Amino acid sequence: MKVQCMTCKKHSEIDSKHPQYQKLKRGESKIFVCSSCNKNIQGQASADTNINVNDLDQHDAILRRK
Ligand SMILES: [Zn+2]
Repeated sequence: MKVQCMTCKKHSEIDSKHPQYQKLKRGESKIFVCSSCNKNIQGQASADTNINVNDLDQHDAILRRK
């Protein structure tokens, strides 16, 4: 089955072993994200979480100094 990644717009071929294949075939889902974009999205999400944690630590350190 030919699918297009919604993020990078690259076309790729997936087979029935692909986790998203059945949903796409039944029309339950039209959204496909290739594995490299999936990793990027997850990487960004964890990077954002790290930034938030660091911000909280900095606020906490400032509050403790006062
Ligand atoms: Zn992609």
